[in-house]
Amino acid sequence: MSVPLFDLTRQYQTMKEEIMAEISALCDSQMFINGPKVDKLEKEIAAYCTAGFGCGVTSGSDALIISLMVAGIKAGDEVITTPFTFFATVGAIVRVGATPVFADIDPATFNIDPAKIEAKITPRTRAVIPVHLFGQAADMTGIMKIAKAHKLVVIEDCAQAIGAECNGKRVGSFGDFGAISFFPTKNLGGFGDGGMVVTSDPDKAALLKCFRNHGQGGTYIHKFVGGNFRLDALQAAVLSIKLKYLDSWSETRVRNAESYRKLFAEYGVTEITLPQVAPYANRMIYNQYSVLVSGGKRDALRAYLGERKIGCNVYYPLSLHLQECFAYLGGKPGDYPVSERVSQEILSLPIYPESTEEMRREVVSSIADFMKK
Ligand SMILES: *Cc1c(COP(=O)(O)O)cnc(C)c1O
Repeated sequence: MSVPLFDLTRQYQTMKEEIMAEISALCDSQMFINGPKVDKLEKEIAAYCTAGFGCGVTSGSDALIISLMVAGIKAGDEVITTPFTFFATVGAIVRVGATPVFADIDPATFNIDPAKIEAKITPRTRAVIPVHLFGQAADMTGIMKIAKAHKLVVIEDCAQAIGAECNGKRVGSFGDFGAISFFPTKNLGGFGDGGMVVTSDPDKAALLKCFRNHGQGGTYIHKFVGGNFRLDALQAAVLSIKLKYLDSWSETRVRNAESYRKLFAEYGVTEITLPQVAPYANRMIYNQYSVLVSGGKRDALRAYLGERKIGCNVYYPLSLHLQECFAYLGGKPGDYPVSERVSQEILSLPIYPESTEEMRREVVSSIADFMKK
């Protein structure tokens, strides 16, 4: 039995008519830029994240870039973030001319360790970007305490974690900005690229809207240099429909994670570390189900599962301080030992809501077979 890592086609079939009717109506109107669909989604996502305002943008990557721009982060500024994240988190910092500074991760959650942040603060530090990786909230209580003490801007990278909570509070509502991605494989995915920034500050919300439209104040009157960071109305229309189902999908992901835990116990697989959820991360939404395979066996297991047509992937194989494009920052092997070890051991297994118990049994029994070899 083959088990894909994702299968977006099954979800689409359950709401095809509803979505096609919206797309058809929008095509009839030919109102593709801004407009009521984008306004509606912004209000819905802001409410969902318990933040005051939403600003639809082109992608999660641009949500990070525009947040940094509005915060006035520029050349000479330092921004502290995790070395274990998707490239865009760090790419955004460089794109605005600032310097990324890494702080290592917590080995249990794979998120930035607040205890490692303080030592990285210099007079040039302006901001911190915690990432809520794989759907689990970073320790925002610890991070906000440090940020307040040092007057740092906080941009939460919520790309993988819409609806996740830290101590009962939604991600994106702690910091100055929360950056969300609607890339198709995120928990709330559009029909292409899209993203949003949420904020609880009305002044920042107004600036975000100005910056996403080339910094335009009045018609063709520009106070700032922004960019074209607008979210397509077509994407907003699709996302508003899908948002209604998001909670049930996220709950199913949690149930699927429980089912994995039981199956790994049933098959007696102990060589693998299952995802650990921190006590404060009381709503983990499992954008990925990422396990650790120790003993240098990860790549062999990945190849073995590949032969059995079981989808799995490595997020992420190389700690960002070791990427060629960041060599100028002077990172060396050994600088961030937890991030480096996790990048060697991590493997993500299928967890999407439409995956079945039978599929998970195939995944776990195959891993058990591999471990017996
Ligand atoms: C997906 C992702 C992004 C970028 O989002 P896009 O919409 O693909 O540009 C940024 N950060 C993290 C952690 C992500 O997973």
